[in-house]
Amino acid sequence: MNSINLINGNIITLNEKLPRINSLSIDNGKISLINNINKKFDTIDLKGSTVIPGFIDSHFHLKNFGKRLNLLDLKNIKSSEEIINLVKKCAKNKNSDEWILGFGWDQNLWSDKLFPLANNLNNLNINQPVYLTRIDGHAAWVNSSAIQKTHKTVHQLDEIDGGQVINDCILIDNAMNPFKSFLPDESIDNVKDWILLAANKAVQMGITTVHDAWQDRTIVNAIKELISEDKFPIRCYGMLAGNDRSLLNDFFKNGHYKDEYLTIRSVKAFIDGALGSRGAALHEPYCDDANNCGLILISKDEFRELAELCYKNNYQLNTHAIGDRGNTYVLDHYAAVVGKNNDRRWRIEHAQMVNDDDMMKFKQFNILPSMQPSHCTSDMHWLPERLGEQRLKLISRWQSFINLGIKIPGGSDCPIETGNPLFEFFAAVTRQNHSLLPENGFQPQEKIHSQNALNMFTKWGAYGSFNEYNQGQIELGYNGDLTVMSDDILSARPKNILGVDILYTIVNGKIVYKK
Ligand SMILES: [Zn+2]
Repeated sequence: MNSINLINGNIITLNEKLPRINSLSIDNGKISLINNINKKFDTIDLKGSTVIPGFIDSHFHLKNFGKRLNLLDLKNIKSSEEIINLVKKCAKNKNSDEWILGFGWDQNLWSDKLFPLANNLNNLNINQPVYLTRIDGHAAWVNSSAIQKTHKTVHQLDEIDGGQVINDCILIDNAMNPFKSFLPDESIDNVKDWILLAANKAVQMGITTVHDAWQDRTIVNAIKELISEDKFPIRCYGMLAGNDRSLLNDFFKNGHYKDEYLTIRSVKAFIDGALGSRGAALHEPYCDDANNCGLILISKDEFRELAELCYKNNYQLNTHAIGDRGNTYVLDHYAAVVGKNNDRRWRIEHAQMVNDDDMMKFKQFNILPSMQPSHCTSDMHWLPERLGEQRLKLISRWQSFINLGIKIPGGSDCPIETGNPLFEFFAAVTRQNHSLLPENGFQPQEKIHSQNALNMFTKWGAYGSFNEYNQGQIELGYNGDLTVMSDDILSARPKNILGVDILYTIVNGKIVYKK
C-alpha cells in the first residue's frame, strides 16, 4: 500500500550529489531506490512530468481554513446582488431548516457603499436562515428566518447593550450574540470536520506537510483522532497555543511528541498585529496615522518567562512579529535566552519588516525568518502610503536573508492567503501580482532565484522543523513525500507558473491526490 514506483520523470531531488533522476521506488513509505525500481510494486509512468520533494507550507492554519471552506466566500465581491445570487444558489442544495453561512462581505466595495436592506434577502423567498458575517467580524447580515430562530424581535435585538440593528437586517456587535448558539461551535467533531476538509484541500494543492501555526487542545486531539482513524492525509508540525499554560505543561512533561503524521515540539506566540490594521509595532509612526506606532501585545516579563520555559524544555519558540519594532523586540528577547552558537532554530513568524541591524541578529543567534511571499504582494499596493518610500526596502527581505546564509521556511498563512504553493513560489520569484505588476516587481532587489523559492517550500521548511534528514529532498531513506506537476517550475517562465497543474500528491508512499 505504501510502496510504489515512479518512472520516466523529470525528478528534481534538491540533493547536490544527484540533482536530477528519472525513476525511483518507495518501499513502506520511504524512498528505497533511485534511478531503479522494484518490480514487485505498482508503477506510475510519469511521461516526463516533474517531481519535487513534497511541498511543505511552514505557516498554515488548518482549522481556520476548513472552517472558512464551509462558509460562502464573500470576500472581494463587488455588489450585493452577486452575494444574493450566491445565497440563492446555495439554498437549492440545503434542507429548509439548514443555516446558510457566509463570511467576508464588505459594503465599501459596492458601488453605493450602503448597507443592504432587509428585503434584499427576504424577497428571495427561501426558508433557510441566512447569516453572513462582515469581513471584520463586527457585523452580520441576516434574513427574517434567522431572526425568527432567536425568538426575538428586531426591536429587542436593537435594545441589547453594545449592539444595534441597521435596516432591520444588519446586526452590529452584541446584537449578534443571540445567534451564536445556532452557529457551529468548536466542538471536537466540528473541528475534526474542518481540519479534514482543509487537509484534503491542501493535498489538492500539492502540499504534503503543513506547520500548523496555533494548536489548542481541541485541535491537537482532533488531529490525533483523525490519524488514529487513518483519515489524515498529510504530515503536520504543530505549534502549541502559547497562551495555554496547562497545555504547554502537559507537553513539556513528556518531551517532544512524535508520530509518523504529527510532531509537536514548538510553541507559538504573538508579539504584534499586522500592517493592514496598523497593529504591527513600528519604531517610527505610520505615515497615514501620525500618532500610531502599533502595539506590543505581551509584556517583557511575560515574554521572557515564556521564552525561558520553552528553552528549558527544549521546545522551539515561534513568535509572530511583523513590524520593525516587533522584530527588534523578539530578536532581543530570543538572543538573551538562546545565546550564540545554538541549534534551537527559534523562528520569527512573518518577519515582514526588518531593519539592517536586526538582519545580523538572525544570523548571529541562528534565528529563522518564517516568511509568506504572498503577504508581500497582497500588501504592496498600500504599503507606500502606510510606511513611506524610505521604509519600503525593509519589507520582505528574502534575498538579503539568503545573502547572509539564512534559511527561510516558506509558508502561506492560509486562509489569510489561498494556500497555493505555486502562488507563493510565483510571488517569491517575481514580487508581482497575478497581472504581472509592477513590471519589475515590488522592491525588486529582494526577488529570489527559483531554486531558492523551491528551497523555501521544501528543504528550508524541513530545517525549520528539525526534519531535514527525513524530508525536503529526494534521497535514499527519506520520506516518500512527493509532488508531481505538469511543468518544471525551476525553468518555467514566471507567468506560466500560475497555470501549472498538480498531477499527484504522494505522502508516506500513498497517493493522497490524483488529478
Ligand atoms: Zn498565521
